[in-house]
Amino acid sequence: MNNENNFIHFLHSLHLHRRQSHSKHTHVQEHDHHRAYEIFQVSTLNALVEGLYEGEITYGELKEHGDFGIGTFNALDGEMIAFDGQFYQIRGDGSISTVSDDQKTPFAVVQYFNPALSFHLDESKTFDGLKQECDRLSEGKNCFYSVRIDGFFSSMKTRSVERQEKPYRPLNEVTRSQKEFECHDIEGTIAGFCFPDFTQGLNVPGYHLHFLSRDRTTGGHILDCTMTCGTLFLDHTSNFHMELPKRKEFLDADLAKDTGKAVKEAETSRDKRSS
Ligand code: ZN
Repeated sequence: MNNENNFIHFLHSLHLHRRQSHSKHTHVQEHDHHRAYEIFQVSTLNALVEGLYEGEITYGELKEHGDFGIGTFNALDGEMIAFDGQFYQIRGDGSISTVSDDQKTPFAVVQYFNPALSFHLDESKTFDGLKQECDRLSEGKNCFYSVRIDGFFSSMKTRSVERQEKPYRPLNEVTRSQKEFECHDIEGTIAGFCFPDFTQGLNVPGYHLHFLSRDRTTGGHILDCTMTCGTLFLDHTSNFHMELPKRKEFLDADLAKDTGKAVKEAETSRDKRSS
């Protein structure tokens, strides 16, 4: 355990050193440097919960702010996962395609992924166990984490949602008829974030993780999983950049409601809901 802590400390120091050496660059690169170390978010989760499923920002623009992340599409047309600079759309019918630059998003979170540490796990972990492992490796609960896990999963349960028609219904209503996909013995990548509890309303407090199989045949928003073995990568940052929509429907919406219950419901598989 001690050795492990030392190793983590070493990785942190290395990372810190790398970050410091970056800051010696010229002014133009300084700007890029800021961009490289911030989480960039489009809109707020509460707006999505309220059914504001139209955004102006294109994926072409979003890609300038990160090569890693999660989100959705206009008209809530599926789940998005990005890693290694590749962006994927997982639709409600389970089909998967790469995202084109002219597609738009009402809600997305991206970052240039630059993990501070990696950790190999060779024992079976439940979904909760994986989150606890991330918690254990994190520096504290009050900063932002991006999480990537490359692994083998004995079970993986995900969901996606079908493209919505106007007038849009609130998110927790839509997710009552979400499509759920379950598979076994699959290799793939988890990507997502852990946000501090104080960001309630802006994003999902705690872990919000998406999955894509290595063969690109299945994925979505993770509801449950069991990992056999894999490697976990964690990147922490204190920098958060939020870009709010300029649309009137956003400006006029009531976004101060306590949506904690609705968000929890929207994050749950259908068989675990009370209603
Ligand atoms: Zn999601």
